[in-house]
Amino acid sequence: MVSRVIPVDSFDLVIFGGTGDLARRKILPGLFRRYASGQMPDEGRIIGAARSDMTCDEFRTMVKEAVEEFDPKSAKDTENLEKFLERVFYVAVDAKGDGGWKELGDLLRPDMIRAFYFSVAPSLFGTIAERLKTFELADDDARIVVEKPFGKDLETARALNKSLAEHFHEGQIYRIDHYLGKETVQNLMAVRFGNMLFEPLWNSQYVDHIQITVAETVGVGGRGSYYDTSGAMRDMVQNHLMQLLCLIAMEPPAKFDPDAVRDEKLKVIRALDPVEPHHIVRGQYSASEKCASYREDVENPRSFTESFVAMRCEISNWRWAGTPFYMRTGKRLKARTSEIAVVFKDAPHSIFGAEAGVHRNVLTIRLQPNEGMTLGVTIKEPGPGGMRLVDVPLDMTFAEALGPDAEEVPDAYERLIMDVIRGNQTLFMRGDEVEAAWAWTDPIINGWTNRNDVPKPYDTGSAGPDDALMLMHRDGRRWREIKE
Ligand code: NAD
Repeated sequence: MVSRVIPVDSFDLVIFGGTGDLARRKILPGLFRRYASGQMPDEGRIIGAARSDMTCDEFRTMVKEAVEEFDPKSAKDTENLEKFLERVFYVAVDAKGDGGWKELGDLLRPDMIRAFYFSVAPSLFGTIAERLKTFELADDDARIVVEKPFGKDLETARALNKSLAEHFHEGQIYRIDHYLGKETVQNLMAVRFGNMLFEPLWNSQYVDHIQITVAETVGVGGRGSYYDTSGAMRDMVQNHLMQLLCLIAMEPPAKFDPDAVRDEKLKVIRALDPVEPHHIVRGQYSASEKCASYREDVENPRSFTESFVAMRCEISNWRWAGTPFYMRTGKRLKARTSEIAVVFKDAPHSIFGAEAGVHRNVLTIRLQPNEGMTLGVTIKEPGPGGMRLVDVPLDMTFAEALGPDAEEVPDAYERLIMDVIRGNQTLFMRGDEVEAAWAWTDPIINGWTNRNDVPKPYDTGSAGPDDALMLMHRDGRRWREIKE
C-alpha cells in the first residue's frame, strides 16, 4: 500500500520566530520533508521573520544547518535541499515596532494563500496580529498559527482569544496542539468511527477504565525558568492529555468536519467532573547519581511546582458515568513513552475455571515511540497442556500494512502545517475548547496554591511517587508498566 501525496495549493508562509528553537528543530525540517515528498508545491515559499538582522543567504544557511542537525537522514537529499532553500526568504521584523513590516509586505505575493506562524513568545501574539492588520498584510482569508502555551489560566486565555479576535475571525486561527497531528491520534478516530467493531463496546458497560500516560525521561532542561511557572498540569495536562481524553471519550460527530469534531470534544471537557484532591497526586523528581533534582534544575530551592501529576477523572455523561479515566505525565520517569490504554471489563463468567486466570482485552494506542495500536486478545495457549489461556497482541501497527512507506509518516508538525495551507481546522483547538480546558484545570491548580500543596518527591527513573501507584491500587487497579 502506498500513501498518496496530494500537493497543497501555492502559499506564502511567514514564520515569525524563524530563527528560534522550534522553527529550527521542527518547523523548517518538517517543511523540507513536505517539499521533498512533493506535497509542498514549487510555488510555495517560506519567509523567516525574526528580530536578528540577517540576509536571505544567511538565513538559508541557517535553515540548511537546521535540517542537517535535526533531520540528517532527509538532509542527504542534497538536490532537493538546494531547491527547497531557493524557496526560503528572510526579513528582519520587530514584532513590537514598525521596522521590517513594509519589507515583509513587499515580499508577499498577491493571490496566494497566506499563513503566518507565530513561533514566538505568547506575549507577542497580540501585537503581531495587530500589526498584520495595520500594515495590511492579512486579509480575511489569511491564516494565523499560534503555538502553546495558550494562556496560563482561563483569564489569560480569554484575553489572548480576545486580542486575536480583534483582528482575525475564529476560522482563521489555528491553535497548535502537536499531539493532534500524530498519525495514531487520527487513526484512533478512524478505528472508532470507521468500524462497527469498537463503538458498541466503547462505553462504561464494557470499558473498565482508561489510562493515558505521557512519560518523559528528560528533566526540564534549558526550560527551567519557564517550566517552574507552569508545571506538568499547565504544560501537559491542560492541552495534550486533555485532547487525548477528548478523542477517546467524544461521541461520534455527525461529520468529519472541523466544527462537528470540535463541538463533540468541547462537550467532553464540559462533562468532566471537578477532581477531588484525593484523586490527584503531584510529584517532583529528586536528584540521582547522574542527574540534578528538579529544584536544582530550575534553580529554585523552594519550588512547589510539579514535574509529575497523576489523576483520576470522571466524565458525567451517559456513555462514561462509572468508568474512570486515569491520566499521568511526568519528567525523569523510567522510559519515554506516550500511550492510551482502553482496558475492557472481565468476561462476566469464566467457563475455563480459576486455573485459566484473569484475562482482559486491552486496546493500546501508542503515540511514541513506534506509533501504532495493539489489541490484546485472549486465546488458548497452543499445545496439549489443557485449556490454558494466554493474551496475545493483535497488532494494528500501520508499519506492517504500509511496509517501507510507513517510515515516511509525516511528523505531527508537517501534517498540521499542511492542514493550515489546506484550510482544515479539524486538528486544531478552537478558542472555546481552550477556555473550557482552563476552566476545568484552574480550580485544581488554585486548590494547590491555596493549600500550599507540596509535591511528593520521586526517584529519577521511577514511575513517579508511590502515592500515584496508590491512586490506582485503592480502586483495585494498577498502572501499566512505563516501558519503551
Ligand atoms: P526561541 O526563544 O528559541 O525563539 C524565539 C524567536 O522569536 C526568535 O526567532 C526571535 O528572533 C523571535 N523574536 C523574539 N522577540 C521578537 C521580536 N520582538 N520581534 C520579532 N521576533 C522576535 O523560542 P522557541 O523555543 O522557538 O519557541 C517559540 C514559541 O513556540 C513559544 O511560544 C514557545 O512556547 C512555543 N513552543 C516551543 C517549543 C519548543 O520545543 N521550542 C515547543 C512547543 C511550543
